[in-house]
Amino acid sequence: MEMAFATQEDVFEVMEKVMYDTFIKFSNKKVAEYPFPRIKYRDAMLKYGSDKPDLRNPLIIQDVTEIFATIDFNAFKGKTVRCIVTPNVSDRTRKFFDDMVDFAVNEAGAKGLAWLKLVEENTFQGSIAKFIDEEHTKALIEKTGLNKGEAIFFVADKEDKVSNIAGEIRKELGKRLDLIKDDIFKFCWIIDFPMYEINDEGKIDFSHNPFSMPQGGMEALEKQNPLDILAYQYDIVCNGIELSSGAVRNHDPALMVKAFSIAGYTKEVIEEKFSALFNAFQYGAPPHAGIAPGVDRMIMLMTNEDNIRSVIAFPKNSKAQDLLMGAPGNATEEQLRDVHIKLDLKK
Ligand code: AMP
Repeated sequence: MEMAFATQEDVFEVMEKVMYDTFIKFSNKKVAEYPFPRIKYRDAMLKYGSDKPDLRNPLIIQDVTEIFATIDFNAFKGKTVRCIVTPNVSDRTRKFFDDMVDFAVNEAGAKGLAWLKLVEENTFQGSIAKFIDEEHTKALIEKTGLNKGEAIFFVADKEDKVSNIAGEIRKELGKRLDLIKDDIFKFCWIIDFPMYEINDEGKIDFSHNPFSMPQGGMEALEKQNPLDILAYQYDIVCNGIELSSGAVRNHDPALMVKAFSIAGYTKEVIEEKFSALFNAFQYGAPPHAGIAPGVDRMIMLMTNEDNIRSVIAFPKNSKAQDLLMGAPGNATEEQLRDVHIKLDLKK
């Protein structure tokens, strides 16, 4: 759907009712009430280690970099440190912790997985217990709200890697501790995506959709550090699955030229590569916003399928072949002639 003269919140209001009613009617699970939580992209990356968080999983990631700055433990020096507090794990054996470390290193790309268990008041047991003195023990307990019998898992890495790793550990802990109740759909909106990022070549580039409206309009584009500019762009996520992205669209050609120039594109490039939109907007387009959740992804969730191919009539395999249709296949001489293609294949 695409709505004229609509804000982000207008889109949310319509979509929430459609999603809620559809999922209530066509599935046999509960649906958490709307309004769905709105989670800022940066908060989602910090708290869930993902921009598609499964909110059925109650575990939350916290930042404890500051506390570790004054702890003498070399493996964490100069790194960003994130942690996850578990519920009571006093019935878990040492193997549970060792298996989690194996998962972190072998599956989640972590350099290690440190852990502490609060066995008595102010007494830790665990792989880094000997590095934590009384003062830091208290600081960690206060910051994380840890109770007796509960454990903390830690990952330390470069800032741009640590979120994703912590997110994988959060998911796995949720599964292994059996914390995810599969009787409900929990939707959320991820909002405030950054407009720009630094790409692999070290240049400023669009993070997501170049045609989204920057928050703050022309003034933001002219005055703000590009990396601080947010976009009116949003994702709708359900139980850890992204159903769709949407945005308030940038309908203003002058804003478009400015937004693209920040990412290093000249006006000529916009006119050539994106002529349809750019030319149409010269005639005046109403401000508009929209979203387009895939029906197939919705049905996958509603029918409890893990794989989208299970709910598509003519699914493609991993090589993008449609085996039922026999596609791709050979074209006939006649078909090629219709579209003026001449083949020059080696015999
Ligand atoms: P070590 O002193 O190297 O034996 O490490 C003590 C504990 O810290 C072990 O449980 C390691 O898995 C863990 N560890 C080492 N490096 C990291 C890291 N970058 N992030 C999280 N835990 C780590």
